[in-house]
Amino acid sequence: MHELSVTQALVDMAVSEAAKAGATSIDKINIVVGELTGIVGESVQFYFELISAGTLAEGAQLSFRYVPAEFHCDKCGYNYNRNGFSFRCPKCGNAGVITKRGNELYIENIEVSFDGDKGSKKHT
Ligand SMILES: [Zn+2]
Repeated sequence: MHELSVTQALVDMAVSEAAKAGATSIDKINIVVGELTGIVGESVQFYFELISAGTLAEGAQLSFRYVPAEFHCDKCGYNYNRNGFSFRCPKCGNAGVITKRGNELYIENIEVSFDGDKGSKKHT
C-alpha cells in the first residue's frame, strides 16, 4: 500500500507542475528512486494508471532511475556501494555505516506537450 500514497503524491506534483507551465498533457515523468525506499517501479506503474486517469498525466510514460544505497567507512573515509550482501568497506574491510544516499524519491523532470505542439518539451 506504500506505493499507492507515493504514486498519488508523484501524480499530484507532476500535474500541478504541468498545469503551471500551461501544458496540455504530460508525455513522460522521470522519477528518481533510492534503493532504500523499497519502492517497486512496477507497483508505481500499476497505481499510476489508476490515479492518472482523467488528469494531465494520463497516458504518460514513467521512467525510473534507481540510486543504489551508499555506505561510508569511518576508518578510511571511503564511500562505496553494497557489494552483493557485504556491507564491509572494500578497501579496509571495516564495517561501514549507511549514508543518506539511497533514500531519494522525487521527480527529476517531466516532459510535456502544449496544444498544437507535436514535440515534447522538458520542464524541470
Ligand atoms: Zn575503509
